[in-house]
Amino acid sequence: MDTSNWDSLVVGGTILTMEPGSEPIPDGAIAIADGRIAAVGLAEDLLEHAPTGQVVTAGGCLILPGLVNTHSHLAMTLLRGLADDLPLMEWLENHIWPAEKTHMNREAVRLGTELAVAEQLLAGITTTTDMYFFADEVASVLAEAGMRGVIAESLIDFATPRCKTPEEMMEKQRELAQHYRKHPLITPSIAAHAPYTVSANNLVKEAELAEELGVTLQIHLSETRWEVAKLMEEKGRSPVAYLADLGVLSERTVAAHCVHVSPEDIEILVDFEVGVAHNPVSNLKLASGVAPIPTMVEAGVKLGLGTDGAASNNTLDLLRDMQLTSLLHKGVLGDPTVLPARTMIEMATIGGARVLGLDAEIGTLTEGKQADMVCLSVDGPHATPVFDPWSHLVYAARSSDVRHVLVRGKLVVGNRTLNTLDQERIESQAWDFARRLKR
Ligand SMILES: [Zn+2]
Repeated sequence: MDTSNWDSLVVGGTILTMEPGSEPIPDGAIAIADGRIAAVGLAEDLLEHAPTGQVVTAGGCLILPGLVNTHSHLAMTLLRGLADDLPLMEWLENHIWPAEKTHMNREAVRLGTELAVAEQLLAGITTTTDMYFFADEVASVLAEAGMRGVIAESLIDFATPRCKTPEEMMEKQRELAQHYRKHPLITPSIAAHAPYTVSANNLVKEAELAEELGVTLQIHLSETRWEVAKLMEEKGRSPVAYLADLGVLSERTVAAHCVHVSPEDIEILVDFEVGVAHNPVSNLKLASGVAPIPTMVEAGVKLGLGTDGAASNNTLDLLRDMQLTSLLHKGVLGDPTVLPARTMIEMATIGGARVLGLDAEIGTLTEGKQADMVCLSVDGPHATPVFDPWSHLVYAARSSDVRHVLVRGKLVVGNRTLNTLDQERIESQAWDFARRLKR
């Protein structure tokens, strides 16, 4: 074992590598070299070669791959709780879109993204996804804070706070992709809002652009009954079939929601290797419905979990959403065996990585992969005792149990404290923003 380049060691705790069929490693340790995992093993073996650099003590923790959020609009944290208990279209057209038009300038997007990054890192999310405006600002916030992200300027057929035309939006998408082509943390992406807000012509152009730039294409898809009825009426087929026929779907597609999908739609999603981001809280809160996740798992659809924006969730907390997903589908199907704990943790880690096309780099604690991981404390009455670590994570753990978070080997959260962002300043500015918006 070449240990000369090890620069950090995470030591103690039970390691869940999330590799297929892997067993928990008690009293484990993970060596890190140059941002990547150099070795995973027993603490007693790795400690012999302890590096002179950083040692992260994780005794009494569960150590797992950083959680992966496959769908969000980060800056919407500033609109958290602005308008609740409303149907999707009324919520969008009368509350969210007007607020965005008036208040979501470059400065607000920076602040809202900082708030989202702070919230997610503290909750053990190490990779996030964004489709919004001012994507260059979003990307620079993540890069500075040391968070991994798949970031896209979102295209829609009407003006956004940043761009007047879809052509201008495509130009911004292209610029971002070129700027971040080889960045260690930022994976550029592009996004088209939805099949009902982007013309067929622009959808095709976006698919071509994704192919040309070699990036993922994010899109909202089959979110509501209303959307399916509209596409059926106007295009004579389901939103999924419509995109497939246009040539828009591919393994590059990251489709958010897919709540209302038929067995034929699910077959298409499998055939085109489309990644699906399941956003259970957003779908429930807006009463969009319940996506057939167990059926999609069975069919072999690539599945990850998403929070969606904080205006429709209202927190960016994948531990909670993991629990909710499992409970929701058990209840709906009347079957307590569906979506067992380990399946849920896979969905929130390696599953999400697959959806985003990053599974060679993240999603499991494997030698050679990026050192993105979470050390979660197992203490307190709610966490005592633990018989099974998978069950503990899904049914008992809370995001406030997250003790340390590493991204690319860097300790971005240590002892529940953010090391790369000024949490107090961000929260105070977010309050100022809210006061201006309500005026
Ligand atoms: Zn969304």
